[in-house]
Amino acid sequence: MIFTTKVTWRSPRLPKNPQPGEWQAAQLSQQYIADYKPFNFVDGEGVRCSLYVSGCQFACPGCYNAAAQNFHYGQPYTDELQERILTDLGQSYVQGLTLLGGEPFLNTQVCLKLVDAIRARFGSTKDIWSWTGYTWAELQQETPDKLELLSKIDILVDGRFLEAEKDLTLQFRGSRNQRIIDVPRSLAQGDVVIWDKLVK
Ligand code: SF4
Repeated sequence: MIFTTKVTWRSPRLPKNPQPGEWQAAQLSQQYIADYKPFNFVDGEGVRCSLYVSGCQFACPGCYNAAAQNFHYGQPYTDELQERILTDLGQSYVQGLTLLGGEPFLNTQVCLKLVDAIRARFGSTKDIWSWTGYTWAELQQETPDKLELLSKIDILVDGRFLEAEKDLTLQFRGSRNQRIIDVPRSLAQGDVVIWDKLVK
């Protein structure tokens, strides 16, 4: 007698893929913050202050911060928190700000307000990194607020987290499809320029 094992094929679990302009901060963001972590070494180059905004629509399976996918998670962003962030950034050993989430580009009200305040106080002496689930190409077709935020940051880590591409040895990202992008040089060249300090 021959026994056979029935193999059930399952499609891979994947994040959502929005149409251009389908998701808008003006409709989705509650201007809530999941967390703020000053003086850390893990969210980009150097010593950084990291703001985790609340709310993300991509719903990546395996998301590193699933609680922050909820736009109501955490607490409202306040002027007091912004002033604390600016004070922390004023420390000479702090290299810059990192925006994570949640999805910074679906919380542009908060992120633009903070980024503008940083540029007003520190000019370009502090750098600004942001993570996003959008790819660079998708952002080029997005709403004006997203393009404005992109134009005001230095480094973008782009793309969804994909379980099939997971690699925990990568610098500052969780899956191989994600890239560390030099934003000013990419905008100037009209194409993606990878961060020149990339090791892996
Ligand atoms: S884009 Fe980032 S925050 Fe949003 S679901 Fe994916 S991993 Fe989570």
